[in-house]
Amino acid sequence: MTTTNSIALVTGAGRGIGAATARLLAKEGYFVCINYRSDVESARAVALSIGEAGGRCQVIQADVSRETEVVRLFEAIDRLSGTLRVLVNNAGILKTQMRLEEMTAERINQVLATNVTGPFLCCREAVKRMSHRHGGAGGSIVNVSSAAARTGSPNEYVDYAASKGALDSMTRGLSLEVAAEGIRVNAVRPGLIHTDIHADGGEPGRVARLSERIPMQRGGEPREVAEAILWLVSDRSSYCTGSVIDLAGGL
Ligand code: NAP
Repeated sequence: MTTTNSIALVTGAGRGIGAATARLLAKEGYFVCINYRSDVESARAVALSIGEAGGRCQVIQADVSRETEVVRLFEAIDRLSGTLRVLVNNAGILKTQMRLEEMTAERINQVLATNVTGPFLCCREAVKRMSHRHGGAGGSIVNVSSAAARTGSPNEYVDYAASKGALDSMTRGLSLEVAAEGIRVNAVRPGLIHTDIHADGGEPGRVARLSERIPMQRGGEPREVAEAILWLVSDRSSYCTGSVIDLAGGL
């Protein structure tokens, strides 16, 4: 897949793993759409660093949990010059650590809306544009799951873990639906990565606390996840679809 005139959308690219992925994709030559929900300053800072490095990008606000905003996001991409060839479903949230018996329906629905419905809607819009069945040029989708899908995150956020389990199932199912239509669908499952997300769970120092339990004895860096995403969207992984890569230091 040539990257000239190729557009890559990274959801939740203002911070953390999404920001690192946007930077790598821009370096590779993609025009990168940096989606964010509310932190415009961070999204603009990512865009600035990409521009300074000679890359091309655009910042687009949209809450991926809302269907109308996802539709608007993809319509904005349609107006760009170039072809959408890459979707990285990275946007994701978790809430304060607690046991399942304490969770409200509102919380569970918010987590599922962002972590499951969001990627479903983004995949829907991307497939309509990428699939040979719809006259598209093909493409590659990467879902950012989590090692939580394997561990279940007991006493912390079983809702989050279950949302990532759903994403793994979607990765497999969608990959088979579109395998003969020029689209590859894969996932990465990061373990404990140094980003802001742990503060949202109420424990900013969570990675440091759990480092000893990681076989490699350290948390991961966003770039170490981004490198795998880059490989999955590139032609270097051209026979890989429906697969999941664990990036968890051995966890
Ligand atoms: P982060 O630093 O908290 O960044 C999350 C990003 O997602 C932000 O840019 C945020 O936008 C965006 N976002 C959240 N909800 C959104 C929505 N509804 N619509 C659009 N954008 C939204 O998180 P991260 O750690 O990099 O996590 C990225 C992905 O990796 C997530 O799917 C997460 O579940 C997964 N993951 C992370 C870890 C880890 O240890 N960090 C481990 C496993 C999996 P704003 O900046 O505007 O709020």
